[in-house]
Amino acid sequence: MKQEEERLTSGQVGSIVKMLGLTTDREFNCTECLQNVSEFAESQLAGKPVTEIIARVEQHLALCPECSEEYDALRKILQAGQ
Ligand SMILES: [Zn+2]
Repeated sequence: MKQEEERLTSGQVGSIVKMLGLTTDREFNCTECLQNVSEFAESQLAGKPVTEIIARVEQHLALCPECSEEYDALRKILQAGQ
């Protein structure tokens, strides 16, 4: 029984990965990412130069599947509007 308890489920692995992602980028959380994700999406589509904030959004998106989903949805909306 003890061994069963120590085994990680895929859900637990997911939250550990997420936790690690959030701790490596403590200063830039999901709220900040989502505040800047539209700027990131627009600059990607327009091929604008990457600013510091854009680079941080990109870094956060690589670590955070939830924000990544938001970005995908936003990008689709922006592309449809072009
Ligand atoms: Zn996030």
